[in-house]
Amino acid sequence: MENSAVYGEIWANMQTFVSCGKAVETLALVGELTRESPDANFWAAVREYLIGAIEYTPETPVAQSAPAKPVSAQTIPNEYYTIELTGPDDYVTLRVADHFDEQKAAKGDKMVGYLAGPDNTTDYVNFGFIVGGRFFIWKKNAGLFPRQHEAAQKLVTANLEDAGMLYALKSSRCRRCGRVLTVDASKHRGYGPDCATMIGG
Ligand SMILES: [Zn+2]
Repeated sequence: MENSAVYGEIWANMQTFVSCGKAVETLALVGELTRESPDANFWAAVREYLIGAIEYTPETPVAQSAPAKPVSAQTIPNEYYTIELTGPDDYVTLRVADHFDEQKAAKGDKMVGYLAGPDNTTDYVNFGFIVGGRFFIWKKNAGLFPRQHEAAQKLVTANLEDAGMLYALKSSRCRRCGRVLTVDASKHRGYGPDCATMIGG
């Protein structure tokens, strides 16, 4: 492989990105590069490495006396949701998007991010997946973000209409695209006019 020095450098960069928690973003970039590259084997290895770094932790079975981990049969639309924990003033906002793996996305698996900063549409940090109707936190986040973890587990069986409306109510933003809602009719629905049309109504 005449580009081995270049590939060696790319490989080292991948490992740095992963150690910085950027595996998801890097994988998206690799998806673009793979389509242009003649060296499919190299990129397949890189892709496999990145997926391995992101993959969720299958949680160990809970004791029989504990309540079952929530499982949902509902498909969760790619929208924003606000989940209450202990009461109306204790809530977590989540963003649901397609799983980065196209085959898993086709099965309805989702990626979940939590709102981590002041900007209600961009400050989301992905931290786990909904796979087979259950939420799994990523391996690197095991034991971290307990409130967000609890909220994501509640989301899978939540009334999605309520959770979407709570997001729109608290943020005054469209629960689908995050744009600011300006007119009362939109605020009542939780969707701006374009998104209301897109979802069929
Ligand atoms: Zn919208």
